[in-house]
Amino acid sequence: MRRKESKPLMNRREFLNLSIYAGVGLFYSRFSKNFPDRVAAVKVENTIDDLFVIRNMPVPKDPILLRIIDDTHAISEEEVAELIEPRLVTLSDYDDRVDPYGFPLLNEETQAHELCVDDLAEMLNDCISDNLSPYIASCFRDHYSQQVALDKVNSYEGLVALPGHSQHQTGLAFDFTSPHVYKLVGWLSGFENSPEGIWLYKNAFRYGFVQSFTQNHDDRQNESWHYIYVGRPIARYYIQLKVKGWDGDIFDLMTIYNRNYC
Ligand SMILES: [Zn+2]
Repeated sequence: MRRKESKPLMNRREFLNLSIYAGVGLFYSRFSKNFPDRVAAVKVENTIDDLFVIRNMPVPKDPILLRIIDDTHAISEEEVAELIEPRLVTLSDYDDRVDPYGFPLLNEETQAHELCVDDLAEMLNDCISDNLSPYIASCFRDHYSQQVALDKVNSYEGLVALPGHSQHQTGLAFDFTSPHVYKLVGWLSGFENSPEGIWLYKNAFRYGFVQSFTQNHDDRQNESWHYIYVGRPIARYYIQLKVKGWDGDIFDLMTIYNRNYC
């Protein structure tokens, strides 16, 4: 009679496989709940182009730096009062930061967000060191002064945004000008061909500033005088994307950032 062999429940190899599956399963069930939202968001909403943009995007030191404000995205009067106004500084109070005559302002009362003052001063110092004469025509506007600006240029439809819809209301947007264009601002000034306009075009990103309107966003094309401060890491990253051939503008970058991280 043949002796019945006692067969082990599983051999060594089967046991090893089962252990690995169990381990992976346990790991997945234990940790996967931490990930699904982000993964799902990326799968559903982002195009390949978006993924290319967010892959190595630096995190801004303050979310206001990538806040979208345009014809369809507003900042309310309450938000300006609560988020922005407490952080405004009067630039002429910091005149010792810019050689030799202080901040070059068309309006001595110009206020800006404290986040951008150091980089603004350094940019202006370097521009002035190159024997140029940049001027700040305008920065922060509250809802009332935005309406005043709008009323002044009523005949140029679209040149000035409605109250609540201008980047100037963050204190991070600047209109620059130059004596070469008689310190005028706007499409007719020719600022883009002035030495100061050319210098800013080439260098502003090194200090955290980028031109907002380069691709007909909100029907605004090439506002060569209007720059928004996004901080040095984001500005550098944006220029790197452009050099790699990405065809978005700063509003597209803000949109992709906000969709993924806010
Ligand atoms: Zn402007």
